[in-house]
Amino acid sequence: MHEFTSELEILAGKALAYSLERLKDDPPLDGPRSAQDLFAEVGQTITAQGMGGIEALAVFTDVLARACISTDHPRNLAYIPSAPSEHANLFDLVVGASALYGGSWQEGAGAVFAENQALRWIADLAGLPSSAGGVFAQGGTVGNLSALVVARAQARKRWPDTTRWAIACSAEAHSSIASAAQVMDVDLLLIQPSSDGKLTGVEVARDLVEFHKKGSARVFAVVATAGTTNLGIIDDLKSVGTETKKRDLWFHADGAYGLAALCAPSARPKFDGIELVDSLIVDPHKWLFAPFDACALIYRNPELAKEVHSQNASYLDALHEGGSWNPSDYAINLTRRTRGLPFWFSLAANGTDAYATAMEKTLEIAQVAAEKIRQHPRLELLRDPELSVVAFTRTGWQKSDYKKWSDDLLADQIGFIPASSHQGQPILRFAIVNPWTKVSDIEQILATL
Ligand SMILES: *Cc1c(COP(=O)(O)O)cnc(C)c1O
Repeated sequence: MHEFTSELEILAGKALAYSLERLKDDPPLDGPRSAQDLFAEVGQTITAQGMGGIEALAVFTDVLARACISTDHPRNLAYIPSAPSEHANLFDLVVGASALYGGSWQEGAGAVFAENQALRWIADLAGLPSSAGGVFAQGGTVGNLSALVVARAQARKRWPDTTRWAIACSAEAHSSIASAAQVMDVDLLLIQPSSDGKLTGVEVARDLVEFHKKGSARVFAVVATAGTTNLGIIDDLKSVGTETKKRDLWFHADGAYGLAALCAPSARPKFDGIELVDSLIVDPHKWLFAPFDACALIYRNPELAKEVHSQNASYLDALHEGGSWNPSDYAINLTRRTRGLPFWFSLAANGTDAYATAMEKTLEIAQVAAEKIRQHPRLELLRDPELSVVAFTRTGWQKSDYKKWSDDLLADQIGFIPASSHQGQPILRFAIVNPWTKVSDIEQILATL
């Protein structure tokens, strides 16, 4: 180990060739296999002697990689898939080869500088002041949690006698908000959104008053979802933000999926009010064409986050000298991969106009898909897509029919679309984030319904 041998030279060639092939060609969809099945094929891969790099690479490329669904396949419309740009993926190789430390300015100044420019692009799209800033955290779950911990610290200053806290959000909010509440040991006030699925200031004001009357806990933050995961619904950010700020509460926008569309001129007005947030998140690994894992977490006033998240110890003192910008100060993290760099590289190389174009393309495919579903004799569109999630039902189908269809679709390597549910009823949804997804891909899937 730790020696660049001639065998390694050959291995490097093979690893790079595999990576380039994966970048160039449409990947196969592939699919999961059982652990027993995989063991039967590859056996115990870790031994005292080692199997050698070329053999280990072959085990991965020939067997293990094929047991992983390609999240960037154009007909993978499941959950929220991914669609990293060629530039972003290529630069991930560079990041991987460079042993960059992204926790501090001292060790990673150049990388952190670049990441900060990428964060700034998002902050500008959201209309946040020049003081705004943050960090690329591991994912939306950690991003939401990190922001909410800061929000509670602020509330503790304002209401020092409060002993029980709560987060308020829509009943349609992502599961990571409930996870944050559980980790923080705080309550969750789930607010029923208006009949069109959007949380507005009306419901927030009404339920906050009711909740505080009960007096069991005090709400310290209101979370608006800027694009729900299941249906792509954007809460009314302006009225929710206004009601929240009126009460001196922290306003957080969870835009892990949807806030990506800030860069699409046609969608930008849907996010009016985003400029009111105290914090926001968006996952570039979802719909901003970056590889896993990267969540842009941005605070209006990052100083407040630093008060909460800074780790202090004698062995870290040197990091804090000179007031430099340390990414570890802005989320629950210390050591950190410079996970925003592939995103930065792709932005820098392609320019932000290319992002607007790619985003508009996915939005347009979603509209075309919705229209085809409207015209389909056996399908019913659940609602007009607000972003790029297209949800619908198949007349006469039970849950088991949806499951069988979905299993067959993957087994036939046509697409990956597991069923979801809405108000207790099974639904199908296309989450379109991939500019490679073409109308013909949608047609191919619809033909099986
Ligand atoms: C995906 C998602 C999350 C969680 O993000 P991860 O990166 O998967 O942790 C949070 N909120 C919303 C709205 C999401 O769509």
